[in-house]
Formats: sequence, structure tokens, C-alpha cells
Amino acid sequence: MKALLLTKQKSLTIVERPMPTPDEGEVLVRVAAAALCRTDAKMWHSGHRDLHMPRILGHEVSGFIDASPGRLYVIWPGKACGSCHACRSGRENLCPDMRITGFHRDGGFAEFLAVPRSSLLEVPDGVGASMAALSEPLACAVHGVRQASVNSCDQVLIYGAGTLGILLALVCLDCGATVVIADPDEDKLSKSTAFRSGFGVGTDLHLSGADGLVDVVFNATPAAETFDAGVHRLAAGGRFCLFSGIGNLPVIPSRIFDELHYRELKFVGAYGCTRNDMSEAVRLLSCYADDLQFLIERRIRLDEVPSEMEAILVGKGFRRIIA
Ligand SMILES: [Zn+2]
Ligand SMILES: [Zn+2]
Repeated sequence: MKALLLTKQKSLTIVERPMPTPDEGEVLVRVAAAALCRTDAKMWHSGHRDLHMPRILGHEVSGFIDASPGRLYVIWPGKACGSCHACRSGRENLCPDMRITGFHRDGGFAEFLAVPRSSLLEVPDGVGASMAALSEPLACAVHGVRQASVNSCDQVLIYGAGTLGILLALVCLDCGATVVIADPDEDKLSKSTAFRSGFGVGTDLHLSGADGLVDVVFNATPAAETFDAGVHRLAAGGRFCLFSGIGNLPVIPSRIFDELHYRELKFVGAYGCTRNDMSEAVRLLSCYADDLQFLIERRIRLDEVPSEMEAILVGKGFRRIIA
């Protein structure tokens, strides 16, 4: 089969590979669509804690299996041990033995991949293969929103108007919360104008100095200044969800800890998603697929992927989908 292999940093090539052979409990999936995200671009550029090379990337994948022809599935990219403390407490995304498809195991930038049968979730009719590939990032947004315990009384501020910022907004809106999105790049912000006006999502152009305190802040951008700015926007008892990792944060000012102490703020982290988050994401897609079509920037071929990496790395555009 044809596959795109990352052999070392910045070296992605189309190769001919033998068909994957599923282990016990696994199935062979014919890839229908695979989305590229900034994590893939980061892995291409500088590696990743959980990446083992050489590797076929691709963790946002939909596809078909022989056993049920015509039925589309999405893949929860995790494979957890099922018995450790994290797994038993419903946090299988944090399992120390986690093997992630597209990181530790070969992913979907290929014609086929092998995955655990239990990782497959059926896609409802009416959700196409490219849209279905967005289930994984949507599930990560669901995970973050659950970590921050967002509810219908909350005013939420999201830093970053990229794909994940929009998906976080959608999940918060589905919870009944009020949402504003901040992004210093007005061009980027303008790409979601129709979505935002349809759902009543305000904008908050500047990272600091704007009026109004909020209950919850998400950073859907690695920009370090959103950490400090976000903390100062939180009302007493507010929650900051560290959704994106922050690159090169300078020394954390001690006044942040004063804020935490005197105003009883809460910090929560969010990394990846559980199978349960994925099933909620599939439900959301069945309700909102039409509203999210604009997140599919364009469909590309496997051999076009290497030339897209630089643009994805700097956050240009929404999702490119190999389909
Ligand atoms: Zn991703
Ligand atoms: Zn485990």
C-alpha cells in the first residue's frame, strides 16, 4: 500500500509498505479521510514526547472495515491498558502504557491501518468521511470542556480562533454557555464570522485590557501571553483550562500564585481524549456537521502533505483533509 512515512525530522516521503497485519482484537481499516493538524506539523518539525520514528502519522481518521461494508467509522486513537489507576478512574487518555495511533503506532496517512476493534465508533448517516475525521479534535475539545466543568451559567473566553478554538466554542455553546473568542489575527478571526454570528459568539480582539471578567478561559493557542492575560480575566473562583501546551513560557510571575490564592482560581489541564469523549464528539457532529463545514479548508492528496507542513505549523487555515 501507499503510505507517507516520517523517517526523521522534516523528512516525509511516500513509500510502498506491506499491508498492516492486525493483531488479536484488531481490525484492518481502509482509510476514507485523514485530517492534518498542528500536532502532525510539530512532530514533523521537531518531534514529540510520544512519537516513535519512523512512523506513519495521522490520528484524525475515518474509514471502513470489511466486516460492515458501507458503514463509516471513526477511530479513537488511544490504546490503553484498561487496568491501571488512570484507566480504572475513566482517565484512559492518561494511561502510562498508552499507545496512540499516529504517535506510537502507525496512523492514517496511508491507504490502510490496523486498530483495536474497540477503538472504532460508528458514524451516523449524514456525516461525511471528511467531517467525521474531525471527531478526534472535537473529542479533545469535549475533554477540555469537561475538565473545566463548563455549564450554562458560564461566560467563556477562548484564546485562538483556529480549528480547536472554534470546536471548543461549539462544545461550550452546546452546554448553554456564553462564548467570546480572542485572536490578535483579525484575518483568522474573520474566517469564522458566519459561524460566530449564527451562534452569537462575540469577539474579544485584544489579549488584555478588555472589559469584563469571565468564568472560564481556554488557551487554544501556544501563545504564552494568553496565560497571564487569561488569569487576569478570570472572575473570583474562575477556571483556566490549559488546553494547548505553552511554548517557552518565561518564569511564571509570582503574582499569578497570588491570584490563585486570593481569588480561589482553579487551573485544569487537558490532554487528548477518552473513548467516551469521542462518542460525545460523534453525537455533536450529527447535530452540527453543517455548521462546521467551513473547518474543512480543503481536500488534498497524500503526496501534497509535505508541502503543507510549514503553513500548518504557523497555524494558517483550518483543516486540510487527505481524502
Ligand atoms: Zn490532531
Ligand atoms: Zn492504563
